[in-house]
Amino acid sequence: MHCPFCGAEDTRVVDSRLANEGHAVRRRRICQACGERFTTYETAELGLPAIVKRDGRREAFQEGKLRAGMQRALEKRPVDTERVEVALTRIKARLRACGEREVPSRRLGEWVMEELRGLDEVAYVRFASVYRRFQDVSAFQEEIERLRRQPPPHLARQQLTLLPEEAPRPPRRGRRR
Ligand SMILES: [Zn+2]
Repeated sequence: MHCPFCGAEDTRVVDSRLANEGHAVRRRRICQACGERFTTYETAELGLPAIVKRDGRREAFQEGKLRAGMQRALEKRPVDTERVEVALTRIKARLRACGEREVPSRRLGEWVMEELRGLDEVAYVRFASVYRRFQDVSAFQEEIERLRRQPPPHLARQQLTLLPEEAPRPPRRGRRR
């Protein structure tokens, strides 16, 4: 694989291990020419549905494009590459599991937003603001407010356990006879 920094053809694998619970191989490589190190992930490419864009055109799902979009939103945010890869794996699993031959880009975008929300709120807002093309400042503020009111699912669970007294008890259902 060519060096992404200087374009040299000769890069060497210095470490190789399983990642994403065995669904990927993570490799550390070093460029023989410039000495930069970088990481690659290898995953199985199984038939994924085509993506239908807003204008109706179809294109093959491109993992690199999706990763780049997420990385742009996560720029300078304190999020591990490994967690981003796990999120990508989950998105691909959803694509595969939906059983459709085509998936609208809108739905893919919603899944990306869900994942980003779990990773980093700033990244989520960055992505959402571009993705949802907020029409004006008030639409953007509404989204921020919505975000404040509803914590992401994993946080919501923590809050419930932190506030056991204040959480109303659900009514008992299906009494046994
Ligand atoms: Zn190089």
